[in-house]
Amino acid sequence: MKRFDYDMGIIGGGAAGLTAASGAAQLGAKIVLIEKEPQLGGDCLHYGCVPSKTLIKSARLYHQMKQADRYGLPRIDVPTVDFRRIAARIREVIAVIQEHDSEERFCRLGAKVEFGRAVFSDEHTVTLDGRSFNAAKWLIATGSSAAVPPIPGLREIDYLTNRDIFSLERLPASMIVLGAGPIGIEMAQAFTRLGSAVSVVDKAEQILSKEDADMAATTQQALEAEGVRFHLGASIEKVSGTQATKRVTITDADGKRLDLAGEAVLVAMGRSANVQNLGLDAIGVAFDRFGVEVDARLRTSRKHIFAAGDASGGYQFTHAAGYEGGVVVSNAIVRLPRKVNYTWLPWCTFVDPELASIGTNERTAREKGIEHSVWIEEFKDNDRSLAEAQTTGRIKMILDGGERPLGVQILGARAGDLISEWVALLNGGVKLSTLASAIHPYPTLGEINKKVAGSFFSPKIFSERVRKGLKLFFSLKGRACTPMECEDEAEPPPH
Ligand SMILES: Cc1cc2nc3c(=O)[nH]c(=O)nc-3n(C[C@H](O)[C@H](O)[C@H](O)COP(=O)(O)OP(=O)(O)OC[C@H]3O[C@@H](n4cnc5c(N)ncnc54)[C@H](O)[C@@H]3O)c2cc1C
Repeated sequence: MKRFDYDMGIIGGGAAGLTAASGAAQLGAKIVLIEKEPQLGGDCLHYGCVPSKTLIKSARLYHQMKQADRYGLPRIDVPTVDFRRIAARIREVIAVIQEHDSEERFCRLGAKVEFGRAVFSDEHTVTLDGRSFNAAKWLIATGSSAAVPPIPGLREIDYLTNRDIFSLERLPASMIVLGAGPIGIEMAQAFTRLGSAVSVVDKAEQILSKEDADMAATTQQALEAEGVRFHLGASIEKVSGTQATKRVTITDADGKRLDLAGEAVLVAMGRSANVQNLGLDAIGVAFDRFGVEVDARLRTSRKHIFAAGDASGGYQFTHAAGYEGGVVVSNAIVRLPRKVNYTWLPWCTFVDPELASIGTNERTAREKGIEHSVWIEEFKDNDRSLAEAQTTGRIKMILDGGERPLGVQILGARAGDLISEWVALLNGGVKLSTLASAIHPYPTLGEINKKVAGSFFSPKIFSERVRKGLKLFFSLKGRACTPMECEDEAEPPPH
């Protein structure tokens, strides 16, 4: 049998590559991890989740400062934002997390880290900077980059992507965001809150097109109320301009031609998998513009080469990439055949209010003709939401014909955290009645989970039939008061 220097080589030190490297090395495999950037961490740490959520926090706080009087505090005139200070804070947060993703840490775990741009020279060998590394197995975990569509003039202007937006020297006075997906929407709100005049353009009629229309519409209204302008159902004709002013010419949903002007243009029109220039054609690894083709065990068309994370074009989230990295370790190192299963993959768009989702949403249930029922609770009816002045949004629980949850969507404050209770419930096969009867601390936003679960059982428990039965059985005396009698002195029920 041919002997290789390494059990597995990994190309890409982002969420997928790092998870696989750490798991495989800790299991005793000899691993080489290759990263083209000077530091590990990938897009999430340097140009994605971490900087965006740090920016969003600054923007939210600034927004709240401007709204002090809503909370009974003195109204204050806040000075304008110095973006360099926000960018400095972003760098600080990245630096702390970077320690966790350091070369030294991976070396301690037992993985050799090499820096340089990897290219396959044969199906077991990768070269970088004139050096060769051979391994029995390989993992392609090269991530994705902002897709830049061939819009006339776009490549001629100095546009921004997620690689530039977190290190700007100053806040743009105005910004045109191309794309109303999660990245575009998160950035549109954050920059509006910081003081930029932001317009969002998308060809879709709905923002966040994967989500239910009602959830997306409420999100859009929340952003519009803060000043974001939307041009949906629009086609982008061309882009032009100078360093100071860029122009985006669109045909809007009514067929009217409009010239939008902005100091900055942010391209957030989806992601392209980083699969070019890896030498994949020559070694027979099939791929298209969406990514490397993989089977359910994440094997490519060459079975000893795996792909995971954004590079394989599936769910483009850090937690999906990490999960897939683990699946690759099972299949490639432990050789325990393991297939990916995304049934309960949650996600969240960190707009305010947050929009989190797990399982089947109402639209998918309808489109697939799945029998379902929808149960809704509004955040305005949650006591903590009122105290926090965060009453926008709702939770939607989708059940099958009976009491089995198919999915949950939460639009509201802390939705990304609130969905975690459903992650446990759904993955653990926990009964809905357990959630409905579990004691939750008061007053918390989390009570909304219990309440929506309880809304399924309440009509059954307090039905006329049950009441009549109990009345008869225990000789209950019945109502002490009727709505007519107590109309004037009605008290809210105790909590
Ligand atoms: C603005 C923004 C916000 C986001 N927010 C969230 C969020 O809140 N939550 C969430 O779950 N996801 C979020 N994402 C998505 C998340 O960042 C990605 O899904 C995740 O980074 C994918 O991990 P990965 O390991 O597949 O790729 P990456 O993290 O991109 O890592 C790939 C690595 O491979 C390296 N590489 C590429 N080619 C080569 C080569 N030839 N040789 C050597 N190295 C190479 C790259 O330099 C990179 O370091 C966000 C993305 C963006 C852009």
